[in-house]
Amino acid sequence: MAENGAAPGKARKIKCPQCGGQTTFGPGNAWRPFCSERCKLIDLGQWATEGYRIPVEEQDGSLDIPEN
Ligand SMILES: [Zn+2]
Repeated sequence: MAENGAAPGKARKIKCPQCGGQTTFGPGNAWRPFCSERCKLIDLGQWATEGYRIPVEEQDGSLDIPEN
């Protein structure tokens, strides 16, 4: 029958915006639209450090995440 077209509720294949690798955009991919947690974190890191300069009130640039 109809094998082409996007079936509703089914994950579709996309390209990861970070690494360009093929991944799926759907409920099964927790990191969508990225392919993995790594790519998502990388993208978030770039947001935070370059490209977007967020005006911060604190000038203490402690970007380290406290373990406790
Ligand atoms: Zn990726």
